[in-house]
Amino acid sequence: MKDKFLMIAGPCAVESEEQLMEIAEFLKSKDIKYLRGGSFKHRSSPDDFQGLGKKGLEILEKAKEKFGMKIVSEVLNVRTIDSFENVDIIQIGARNSQNFPLIREVGRMGKQILYKRGFGNTVDEWLKGVEYIKKEGNEDIIMCARGIRTFEMETRNTADIDVIPIVKKKSGLKMIFDPSHSAGRKDLVVPLCKAAIAAGCDGLIVEVHNNPDRALSDSNQQLNFEEFNKLLEEIQPYLDVRGLEI
Ligand code: PEP
Ligand code: MN
Repeated sequence: MKDKFLMIAGPCAVESEEQLMEIAEFLKSKDIKYLRGGSFKHRSSPDDFQGLGKKGLEILEKAKEKFGMKIVSEVLNVRTIDSFENVDIIQIGARNSQNFPLIREVGRMGKQILYKRGFGNTVDEWLKGVEYIKKEGNEDIIMCARGIRTFEMETRNTADIDVIPIVKKKSGLKMIFDPSHSAGRKDLVVPLCKAAIAAGCDGLIVEVHNNPDRALSDSNQQLNFEEFNKLLEEIQPYLDVRGLEI
């Protein structure tokens, strides 16, 4: 029996029922078991698409029901926590990595948590954030590296692949990598995924869209279906070396 590799994929944001269902159907056909999709979006500008809110979560729930996939979505503030009852993995995003009142409340939900590194946070700060979750009696935490901000402008963030072995060892928790938000460029998703698997990650979270050019957020970094197929093909040898399967 091979060990399982946690592959989470889906759009940056849930944009409509048609969009999400088309993506979920495709991912299901590829045997992907975890569907991501932002419903409450944390955008830099208030004029940018903010997500569908509760409606987006309802659409994710429909996809969960129809395709038997687990759903992953980000919670932005304590006021909306109750709407996440049927979400399987609750994401704490980079911008909320040190929002301790939120983190405490999410810790109390008793659900699996995907905890992202803040793009300006040290490993030490990130690990202290984990303690806030654990203090609420929840140790079901997946750490997610997603790039950090540096002086380099070629990429949206600089890939922090090095924290994969560091944080795995220090925290003893599962560790996944997000190549999409790290690079902000679809052409780097394949090489970064390979590097992350080689560095020992337990999974990946990748943005996939049925029509990336028309996506309402993060258009440059989302893979189309063909590109996602290619990604699966390209990473297979790296998974094989580690004896992992999606
Ligand atoms: C996301 O995964 O939807 C997201 C906004 O990522 P991050 O918090 O890492 O920017
Ligand atoms: Mn995104």
